[in-house]
Amino acid sequence: MDVCQKCGLPKDLCVCESIAREQQKIVISDVKRKYKKHVTIIEGLDEKQIDVKGLTKLFKQKLACGGTAKEGMIELQGQHAKKAKEILVKEGFPEESIEVK
Ligand SMILES: [Zn+2]
Repeated sequence: MDVCQKCGLPKDLCVCESIAREQQKIVISDVKRKYKKHVTIIEGLDEKQIDVKGLTKLFKQKLACGGTAKEGMIELQGQHAKKAKEILVKEGFPEESIEVK
């Protein structure tokens, strides 16, 4: 069984990540890359507290797009700022702490 490193409780009882989610200041921006390709950048996640890789996987599933995570930053292929915000809110991130640029 997986045990949380912070509180010592089994992962399914632990609320550390839920608490951490409420404390993130997230910025979502739509960036135009070379060759008119759009990417959606999600910044401000603390990867020590948040399972950024897990979130990236969720985004890719829900948005059916490609994406990568590095150093707490998520990059998704395409324009998904609005939907990405909706997903984050559903995942327990407070709406007022998510800024869409
Ligand atoms: Zn915990």
